[in-house]
Amino acid sequence: MLNGITGITARINDIEHRISSMTQQTAARSATAVAKSGQAFASALASAVHGSAAPAAPASKMKVNAQGIPEDLAAYGNGKIPPTALGKVGDTRHKLWAPAAEKLTQMMADAKAQGVHIGITDSYRPYEEQVDLVRRKGLYSQGGLAAKPGTSDHGWGMATDLDLNAKAQAWMRANGAKYGFEEDTPREPWHWAFKPEKLS
Ligand SMILES: [Zn+2]
Repeated sequence: MLNGITGITARINDIEHRISSMTQQTAARSATAVAKSGQAFASALASAVHGSAAPAAPASKMKVNAQGIPEDLAAYGNGKIPPTALGKVGDTRHKLWAPAAEKLTQMMADAKAQGVHIGITDSYRPYEEQVDLVRRKGLYSQGGLAAKPGTSDHGWGMATDLDLNAKAQAWMRANGAKYGFEEDTPREPWHWAFKPEKLS
């Protein structure tokens, strides 16, 4: 069952998804005037939605199970998170569980403001992609780099693989925890897991 905040986030994501597909459909009709007014309407609607949305509650307030997985996510199942529970990271194509996406977006912007570039190479990973990854990279337990399908933090939308140079790696080790991101996997300095229960 969705709690209030996740419900609101999910609704906003759903509305944004509809707006974006509406905008695309409208643009596809190639009538420029129609497309323009459609986009103007979409952006007005988007700002109205954001303007009236309640501020996001701290992720730390969310209930997590014994594995540190938010109960709402656990109910969906690993690798089976619906689009409405996911959020986009900045202007990238990457998605994470919405509260994690929000924190990562904020973290990347803050790093950038300090002259540190943080890139993303991987994020939410649906179940089928986890299966495929085992084929390509081998099981972690056997010296490879892929988690057993259905167990990856990527499948919860709660882990991201970052593209970090030495400066960015050091910045992450000093600052990642402030945003709930933790380097928790030996042999994978690029892998950062979101730990909502550790946010203050
Ligand atoms: Zn990873």
